Amino acid sequence: MTTYTPMMQQYLLIKSEYKDAFLFFRLGDFYELFFDDAISASQILEITLTSRDAGSTERVPMCGVPHHSAQGYIETLVSKGYKVAICEQTEDPKQAKGVVKREVIQLITPGTLTEGKTIDGKSNHYIAAAEQLSENSFALAYLDVSTGETNTLLVEGGTKSLLQQLMAFNIRELVVTEYLQVLLAEQAANLGIVLSLENEEGTDENSIQYVSNLPKSLQGAAKCLLKYVERTQMRSLTHIQPFTYTETKKLLRIDTNSKRNLELLQSIRGGDQKGTLLWLLDETVTAMGGRKLKQWMHQPLADKSAIEERLSIVTDILDEFFIRDELRELLRKVYDLERLAGRVAFGNVGGRDLAQLRESLRQVPSIKEQLISSNKATLVKLGEKLDECTDIEQLLSKAITDHPPVAIKEGDVIREGYDDKLDELRFAARNGKDWIAQLEQKEREITGIKNLKIGYNRIFGYYIEITKSNIANADLTRYERKQTLANAERYITEELKEKEAVILNAEEQSLALEYDLFVELREQLKQYIPRVQELASEISELDVYISFAVVSEKYRFVKPTFHDGRALKIVGGRHPVVEKMLNKQMYVPNDCILTDEKNMMLITGPNMSGKSTFMRQVALIVVLAQMGCYVPADEAELPITDQIFTRIGAADDLVAGQSTFMVEMLESQNAIMNATDKSLLLFDEIGRGTSTYDGMALAQAMMEYIHDKIGANTLFSTHYHELTALEQQLQRLQNVHVSATEQDGKVVFLHKVKQGAADKSYGVHVAQLAEMPEAIIERARVLLEQFESKDCQTTKEVKEDALQLSLFEEIEKRKEAQLSATEKVSQAECEVLERLEKMNIMGTSPIQAINVLYELQQLL
Ligand code: ADP
Repeated sequence: MTTYTPMMQQYLLIKSEYKDAFLFFRLGDFYELFFDDAISASQILEITLTSRDAGSTERVPMCGVPHHSAQGYIETLVSKGYKVAICEQTEDPKQAKGVVKREVIQLITPGTLTEGKTIDGKSNHYIAAAEQLSENSFALAYLDVSTGETNTLLVEGGTKSLLQQLMAFNIRELVVTEYLQVLLAEQAANLGIVLSLENEEGTDENSIQYVSNLPKSLQGAAKCLLKYVERTQMRSLTHIQPFTYTETKKLLRIDTNSKRNLELLQSIRGGDQKGTLLWLLDETVTAMGGRKLKQWMHQPLADKSAIEERLSIVTDILDEFFIRDELRELLRKVYDLERLAGRVAFGNVGGRDLAQLRESLRQVPSIKEQLISSNKATLVKLGEKLDECTDIEQLLSKAITDHPPVAIKEGDVIREGYDDKLDELRFAARNGKDWIAQLEQKEREITGIKNLKIGYNRIFGYYIEITKSNIANADLTRYERKQTLANAERYITEELKEKEAVILNAEEQSLALEYDLFVELREQLKQYIPRVQELASEISELDVYISFAVVSEKYRFVKPTFHDGRALKIVGGRHPVVEKMLNKQMYVPNDCILTDEKNMMLITGPNMSGKSTFMRQVALIVVLAQMGCYVPADEAELPITDQIFTRIGAADDLVAGQSTFMVEMLESQNAIMNATDKSLLLFDEIGRGTSTYDGMALAQAMMEYIHDKIGANTLFSTHYHELTALEQQLQRLQNVHVSATEQDGKVVFLHKVKQGAADKSYGVHVAQLAEMPEAIIERARVLLEQFESKDCQTTKEVKEDALQLSLFEEIEKRKEAQLSATEKVSQAECEVLERLEKMNIMGTSPIQAINVLYELQQLL
């Protein structure tokens, strides 16, 4: 190391503390990267790789980016999962003795990026930490560094559930112990989640106040997360809120696959949000409201009174349509209070941000007034809760000018009247300028030169300028020449020099003072952060309620009612997104009636008749209702559902084959293992991915299991017509079918769900409509009859087989299954096992071991 220049030694020392990050090392106007950092960064960022003499024999690889355009490069690296350590010069190079002091001022990581193009205003950007509590359960803590929101929850169901939860919240970075890092490495890498090691140094002291509301088991993960965020951010985090705790029992749980299948927040095809429930539902007018809506959609409620409270607020907003419109207009003028509060905490808030904060706060009294003026108790209550923050607004009004510029060092930020000293300096500067204007007038009169002017530049200060053509006529004895231009001369006078000193001094001082005042104000504002956050939370909820009301009215939704039983009654239900997409065509509404006696439905009907749409619409209605929104139906009486599981095939399942069948089985297994009698299960075309009998057997076995062991509300769709016979065997099962008809020789789908099973010769019927040759149609009819008579027998066999084979019976009887497996072990295997058991491994040499292995193998 001694051979390197002092600056390079400094670099290496700092880099040794940030091995896992790209070190952006500030050198004048550039951030430079060296060694391996430079080689990889030049490739990733597509910038030129150069080298630098650093004292040693070989030149050091180097690349760099200008500091003013660094943000984009940093974002690119971070969005690819890398970390970037920003190392700044922390003393003025002019004053430095030897190498300029440098320090890392922030470590930017995928989970802590707070600014830039990749940060979508309407989405949260979380970072999380996890702690393993038992084999299958984890404590998960997460927070959004830009808004300060925090939360924790208990995740059951092993690493798979943990990763699913991370995906659900779109979390890109997880802080973990070394053990978990190893455990999760591969799966996390596949999902693009960065694992960061927890920071073992440092105390928990700072974090205690943040975690005191949490159950003990969740505190560790929250503290670990705080420590990590403190270490990487190295700046004030006063806006981070005390951790809250989500009791998963009070929420409607929907696993990630089901969220995707139902296209709640993402469409199955990926890409934009068009076609999702969120797309339909998002009528929010603030970024905070947009984020809140997403949160509610991720976690609908499962607590009857909480749901009813939300619904009654929506009802009242619908009734008060006049107030609603007023409120919406006011909300439109509210900026992102949460992120503004975050910037106040970071200390990077600018004049324009404060003007936005002020503008937002100015709306609050009117919002409050509108709410309180209503006749509805719920709205009055919302209004009374609102903190108008008048003191903060007044402070900002007094301190900040009407239209502050983006830069905070160039003046025009602090309003006149805020600080006496500043006013005085400004007066002096302005006064001086008036004086100069007068002097210009006076000099013109004395010299008789009409175009004489007084100007200013940074190098020469104030000067009197006279064009060359006028010089000959003028009396210039009082003037001292300063600068010669092509067609003019510039002069100064004693008098002008004196005044210049006064003006410049006053200006410089006033800018410096203004900056100090701004920084002081920024500090002072930190104390208000919790109040602004509280306000933000209330405003964002209001925005969501109004959005619910707007959507409910626009699409003719009705208020659902809830009861404590299990029955589900939807009359005239619609799939709101399909309906919207249909445009001018009519959506055919359908009922779904599940009673205590009959709470399973087997849906048959040809492809494209609307089976899957019908099933999804039931799930969407449940989700909407439990979010506290009205639902697309004429009438809905619902139970409180605890979980929704779906197995709905995407179109490409048909071609994807075997591996998709495995996915199908895994999703089904997940549903069957976790569902309760309060859950809603949707199975679309189960068993389609395998051969007919195989698929049918599985489908039937699953239905029997759900019927006998789980009792959940279940919708099953199938094209195995044979399964409709199960209605006889399973008491709580009812057959329905989606009808189609013929018109002018074409199949017309009526999309109407009717009682009973579908007509089984439907395929042949359609072929006939398609004017297939009569000979083929006839032959098909005969074959169908033959198959059907065979099928009748086979269904029985299949049924019995299925009972034995049933995957799920086996799960239940895993122990017995294991036992019977050992019974089947042959004599030879027993001997092998016995010998292995008796073997003294420690006393066996490698050669002996090989011999034993050989003998054992011979036995098998
Ligand atoms: P299946 O699952 O039976 O193959 P889908 O549910 O995928 O059929 O429906 C096919 C198409 O039919 C949908 O994309 C939609 O355009 C239309 N459709 C479904 N249900 C309805 C309905 N109730 N009213 C109007 N159109 C519908």
